[in-house]
Amino acid sequence: MTIQAQGYVAQSATSELAPFKFERRDPRPTDVVIDILYCGICHSDIHSARNEWGWTRYPYVPGHEIVGRVKPIGGKVTKFKVGEWVGVGCLVDSCRKCPACGEGLEQYCENGYTGTYNSEDKIGGTPHKMTFGGYSDKITVEERFVLRIPENLDPAAVAPLLCAGITTYSPLKRWKVGSGQKVGVIGLGGLGHMGVKFAHAMGARVAMITTSPKKGEDAKALGADEVLLSTDAKAMQAAQGSFDFLLNTIPVGHDTDPYMNLLKRDATMVIIGAVETLKHVSGIPLILRRRSMAGSLIGGLPETQEMLDFCGRHDIVCNIEKIAMKDVNEAYDRTVKGDVKYRFVIDMATLKS
Ligand SMILES: [Zn+2]
Ligand SMILES: [Zn+2]
Repeated sequence: MTIQAQGYVAQSATSELAPFKFERRDPRPTDVVIDILYCGICHSDIHSARNEWGWTRYPYVPGHEIVGRVKPIGGKVTKFKVGEWVGVGCLVDSCRKCPACGEGLEQYCENGYTGTYNSEDKIGGTPHKMTFGGYSDKITVEERFVLRIPENLDPAAVAPLLCAGITTYSPLKRWKVGSGQKVGVIGLGGLGHMGVKFAHAMGARVAMITTSPKKGEDAKALGADEVLLSTDAKAMQAAQGSFDFLLNTIPVGHDTDPYMNLLKRDATMVIIGAVETLKHVSGIPLILRRRSMAGSLIGGLPETQEMLDFCGRHDIVCNIEKIAMKDVNEAYDRTVKGDVKYRFVIDMATLKS
């Protein structure tokens, strides 16, 4: 027995997303079935749809910023009740045995976590060998990988928290960002706008570091205290050695030296956007002030729940533009152009129309 589902699929790297019928597994005792109501559009969805990272297998159903309501549950589910608002982020399974899984850092599972889409489905129960994501009407997920959504937040605007939100929250927590610190967020897109909101809510003084005066003004409306234009050589010079932490959301390879020089002694810049070769990294800014450069990947299940609860307490959600499912291809083109403030979210009620 399986559950009949429908969604949107890419059949090849060059085909547009189009309607698709497929199967989800029937719930096992510890599984939750979710009626998906919203799904965010992450840049990774687009890279994968177009096979820009070379690992996509087709048919491919994207979507790892999923929000919905609990439908039937397995007999051993303890965390959730039917009708509750829940979310699913970038992972739906991991080995649960390695040190990383033991520490609730499933995103660093040493045996490889199961991504919400385009991963080998080790649980099975359907004819497909791969996981299918949230551009669809339902999904079956083990309760350990399902998150509780605070009731006071707009569920559509919560969806991108499950990838863009946790990707920015996790390094800010890891490097203990807080009051009395000056934090720079480099780049203002889906990630950067959440970085500004979180760093501000954690009590830091926040600078938006951008090439665009317009984006600087937008960042102030989101909670940034100041703007540093990276194209202004004098301002960059004057700001050297003044930052306690930098969150670098630039999505492409770039010269990191101008930013590293902004850090104080012993401070760290964390790369979360560029999943490609950094064009230039000199040892000099690292050596001269004992600075560090690090990377960070999404977050584990306990920390993702902590982030959602933090958002509930601080009334934080993403700024979104809601779209109908049929407009997803146009939304992809606009996302690539940076023409969205700051995340598209698909209203799944439009799937059947
Ligand atoms: Zn994502
Ligand atoms: Zn593991």
